[in-house]
Amino acid sequence: MTIPKYLSDTYLEEFTAKITKVIEMDDSVAVYCDDTIFYPQGGGQPCDLGIIIIDGCTHRVHHTETTEDGIAHVLESHPSLLTCTGKPCIQRIDIQRRLFNAKSHTAGHLISHLFEELDSNLSPAKGHHYPDDAYIELIESERTNDTFSVALINEQIDTLVDKTPRPIQSIELDLAEVQSLRPLLSKFIPQSTKIRMIAIDGFTPVPCGGTHVSSTSELKGLRVTRIKRKKDRIKVSYLID
Ligand SMILES: [Zn+2]
Repeated sequence: MTIPKYLSDTYLEEFTAKITKVIEMDDSVAVYCDDTIFYPQGGGQPCDLGIIIIDGCTHRVHHTETTEDGIAHVLESHPSLLTCTGKPCIQRIDIQRRLFNAKSHTAGHLISHLFEELDSNLSPAKGHHYPDDAYIELIESERTNDTFSVALINEQIDTLVDKTPRPIQSIELDLAEVQSLRPLLSKFIPQSTKIRMIAIDGFTPVPCGGTHVSSTSELKGLRVTRIKRKKDRIKVSYLID
């Protein structure tokens, strides 16, 4: 399977692709391409927005989503779009929005790792990396009486962002390796042969299909704001500049 362009380069703002299909909807049109730099909404990360230029005409991308036909770039209806299958197009994402989403998403992973280090009974369970309501949830395999301090976590974040930043990479692992590294999480991912993982240097990689930044030094302004325990879950809310 080809790796979509948005997964191979978080920082790529513009890309030329070929239009493979156009589907007319009520008051909009879904355009599909042979590859895309637009991240489709999902995995707790908002979609990319931006523009697509076809025959010199600029069309705004209002939404990007995964459908049964592939990744749909949703544009406002225009008669010229109905005959553009096979044509080249220039894709350009709103790079500020992308970088914010990538930072927020990566921040969720980093916070999750810090909690896992404090209590080995915790595993990442959910991420919601939206600007006004960013949080992660961890699940406890065994009840412990830990109380977590917002100040302590923020101190550790400062160290990893400012003093000793860690590189971040996307890696591919075999399913068996993922099952051994992440037994709980591996049950909830597509059981394909190769699994994409995000690897923050020094922490156990996690399966993820989102966009991430390349170093923890890019997470300036990251602050955990609240830690809430409910039954076997711990919810950690955070903000990033
Ligand atoms: Zn991720």
